[in-house]
Amino acid sequence: MLAMSADIDAASFVANWAQVRARVDAACRAAGRDPGEVAILPVSKTFGAASVRAAMALGLRRFGENRVQELRDKQAELAGEPAEWVLIGQLQTNKAKDAARLASEVQSLDRLELAAALDQRLQQEGRVLDVLVQVKTSPEPSKTGLPPDELPALLDRLRDYPRLCVRGLMTLAVHSDDTEQVRACFRRLRECREQAARQGHALERLSMGMSGDFSLAIAEGATEVRIGSALFGQRS
Ligand SMILES: *Cc1c(COP(=O)(O)O)cnc(C)c1O
Repeated sequence: MLAMSADIDAASFVANWAQVRARVDAACRAAGRDPGEVAILPVSKTFGAASVRAAMALGLRRFGENRVQELRDKQAELAGEPAEWVLIGQLQTNKAKDAARLASEVQSLDRLELAAALDQRLQQEGRVLDVLVQVKTSPEPSKTGLPPDELPALLDRLRDYPRLCVRGLMTLAVHSDDTEQVRACFRRLRECREQAARQGHALERLSMGMSGDFSLAIAEGATEVRIGSALFGQRS
């Protein structure tokens, strides 16, 4: 693994977790929502196995990673531990084999070609996989994801891949100081879910919001927020 970040100690992680959970709960209350509706996915990318162990000491089991290679290395280092790995980064089709073998969930499904490759590999592995469809709600070229207007067709086609259990939608908001612009991205994802429901696709989960913008995501209906730096520290 290259450019690893400095690992966090268990006591600091406990303190960060308490602080983030309290902020998530406060955002829920401000939005008139039950804090039990919003899960926190710790994002361990660039942090080592020691950081993951610090989080596991609190009973956390699911960890977000954005690169298959790094996920594979970390899982090998933590062999025997009950950690589950959630892929949240862009996934190349030629990495579908490892993803199908190693991940418990993929949140970055953004095209039919990838769905077909994953389903084929899952068949060979005798597994099923929870997936979220990543939707591009931000105008930034650097952000990946399916254009919102292509979501209905993709959801229909995903019915052909029974090993992919489509649980919801994921997005990354625009990086901006303008909270209205950020919030509009999260609102867009919620509207995508509403449209999908009218189309007969009941999608429970909305994965949206990171360390810098999770309160806005919760206000717009996030069911899980993906938190890296606020829990594990600055990435190098
Ligand atoms: C890194 C990452 C996060 C977490 O980012 P922080 O700002 O560190 O909380 C969330 N989602 C995705 C897709 C990421 O790549």
